[in-house]
This record gives sequence, structure tokens and C-alpha cells, in this order.
Amino acid sequence: MDSPKISPENRISPEKKRIAIIPGDGIGQEVIPQAVKVIQASGADVELTDFDWGADRYLRDQTTVPAGGFATLARDFDAILVGAFGDPRVKTNIHAKEILLGMRFTMDLYANVRPVRLLDAALCPLKGIEPQDIDFVVIRENTEGVYTDAGGVFKQGTPDEIATQEDLNTRKGVERIIRYAFEYCRHNKKQDGSPRAKVLMCDKSNAMTHAGGLWQRAFKEVSAEYPHIAAQHMYVDALAMQMVRDPRQFDVIVTNNMFGDILTDLAAGLQGGLGMAASGNIHPGKTSMFEPVHGSAPPIAGKNVANPFGAILTAAMMLAHWGMRREAEKIEAAVLEAVREKKTTQDIGGPLGTREAGEWVASRVLSY
Ligand code: ATP
Repeated sequence: MDSPKISPENRISPEKKRIAIIPGDGIGQEVIPQAVKVIQASGADVELTDFDWGADRYLRDQTTVPAGGFATLARDFDAILVGAFGDPRVKTNIHAKEILLGMRFTMDLYANVRPVRLLDAALCPLKGIEPQDIDFVVIRENTEGVYTDAGGVFKQGTPDEIATQEDLNTRKGVERIIRYAFEYCRHNKKQDGSPRAKVLMCDKSNAMTHAGGLWQRAFKEVSAEYPHIAAQHMYVDALAMQMVRDPRQFDVIVTNNMFGDILTDLAAGLQGGLGMAASGNIHPGKTSMFEPVHGSAPPIAGKNVANPFGAILTAAMMLAHWGMRREAEKIEAAVLEAVREKKTTQDIGGPLGTREAGEWVASRVLSY
């Protein structure tokens, strides 16, 4: 098995970066334009190209991903900035599956990196928690697990119906995501500049013994290669409770696709809600995809109320990934200022609409 030398945020390249912009559906169409405004205000040397993939296009001509679409993204772009997919008019959600899961699987974007940071104490529902208390990252396996849709339904619609959903775990997939977590820990610092120091692997190996056993063995072997990083383990149920009781204890968490999905929604709650959470879908050295953690949120779509900060912080994460630290820092500082001054959408206590909050942040970024 090859062991890539990964430095997840180390690609510093002077040339212009090409970004594919795919707003998608629902609030994706509202928050991504704000993220784009902010990227432009930051002065980052980028070239942006819009893609219309999503429900509207699918309903128009039945296209989910145009022929050669993923190959084009991989060949012609350095990154993809995505909004969200999912539209009540497409009952099967086929376009979302083919575009989003297709991108993750076909482009092998195996590391879903979800930083969990508290910008302001007022955003956290827990008592007595300060921003420095919440600064961890969840590294979620992104190409395997139950999301591969292996399994099937037998005797559907009858009282004897049987449904199976396989949890697929490969040695290669498990080992590389665990190694990615250790490399992330090694190469990234906390917000306060202190080094990251521990990796916690989370599973349910007491009940799911086959898959859990593989995760346990791989974690033991890979962690032995990193003697200076503390290796810990927790069952997912215990971790969910601990995340609420004492989020200070976490640093880097690595887990499978489904546990990562669930835990990061819980973690988003600690940061001020889904509207505040950013993520990257990464394969080191290849075109990666960045998207806010939230979905298309149909109930609030088209009302100019969606919080654009998750998308804006996602854009900052993308720039930092390339080593554009100055630009990323300007964006993060402007979002922090917006939160402190209540220049935000209603979900986090401010009076502004999506557009107005995005424009406020963009104007602050321009002024730095
Ligand atoms: P998915 O399964 O695609 O991740 P979901 O159904 O779990 O999506 P979301 O679409 O992310 O959930 O949204 C759930 C709810 O969270 C929304 O209806 C909305 O109330 C709230 N929400 C999500 N994102 C935002 C946002 N950016 N701003 C404000 N509220 C949001």
C-alpha cells in the first residue's frame, strides 16, 4: 500500500487558481454568490467558472452530470465550490446523488474535513464555553460505508419485505483516512497557534465487530507510525455525549462516513448551527471540492434568510488549502467581526438578509 506524504494545506503555488462554481439547489443558489463576492473582495488570484448542475437543469433536460463532467472538473480546475443539492420537485433526489456522491466517489475525494470552531461565545448553546474551548476537526471517510448504497430490497411493499444496507469498509479506505487524520494533526495548528496533538478514532466496534475490527487494527498500526501524536478511541455513542458535555477535550477526530455525517451536524450545533459550518472534500494532490455542511434547506430557500457564513468560511478554507493564508485570514476576520457586531442573518441573532450579510462581510474584507 502506498503511503502518500500528505500535507493537507501545503500546496503553495503562485499561479492563478481555477475554481468551478456549482451553486446547485435551494439556498445553495443564495449563499454561493455571497461566497463568490467575498472571494473576489479578498483579492485572491482566481478564475471562476459557473456550472448550472442541479435540479433546474435536471428538470429542463434530464441531465444530472453532463457527459465527461467529472473528467472536466478534474482536468481543468483546481477546486470546486459547491452549494447544496436537493429539491422537492425531484422526488428521487437522483440529481443530488449523481452529482454530489458522484463527485465524492468518482473523483475519490476520500477525506471530508470539517473544522469545528466557535467564533463567539454567544453562538454556542452550551453554558460557560468560550471560543478557545471549541477548536477541533472531524475527518470523515467520504467514499465508503453505508453511502455506497450496497444492499437491496426484497419483496418490497409486502409484509415480508427485507431491506439490507451494507456498511462497506476496505483496508485501503480505512487506512488512508486514518493516515490523513494523523498527517492533518501533524501539519495543522489550532487557532491560537498551539500545535495539534491527538487523534481520536471513533467507531462502534463493540456492536459492529467486523467493520469495527478493521478500523481498530488499522488505527493501531497507523498510530504506531506517529509516536508524537496521542492516539485515543471512543465509541460513537459516548463521543456524542462527550461532545456536548465537554467539547474542550477534542482535537482531531477520525471516523467513518455515517458517524462523521451525524457527529458534524451535532458539532455544527456547537458553532451556532448548520449555517456556520464549513467543509472540504479532499484527495491530496487532486482537484478537491469545498461545500458548506448544510443542505439545500427547501423550507427557507428563496427567502433571503439563509446564513451565508458557512459558505463564506468554506471559501476561506479553500483558499487556505492552497496556501492563500492572507486572503483566508481576511475572510475569517470579517466573519468574526460580523458575528460580534450582529451583522448576521436571523438564525444567529442578527437582522440582515443573506445578501446583506454577504455584502457586509465582502465590504469588510475589501477594507483590510
Ligand atoms: P442534507 O441532508 O442535504 O444535508 P438536511 O435536510 O439535513 O440536508 P439542511 O437542508 O441542511 O438539512 O437544513 C435543515 C434545516 O437547517 C433547514 O431547514 C434550516 O432551518 C436550517 N439551515 C440549514 N442551513 C441553514 C443556513 N445556511 N441558514 C439558516 N438555516 C439553515
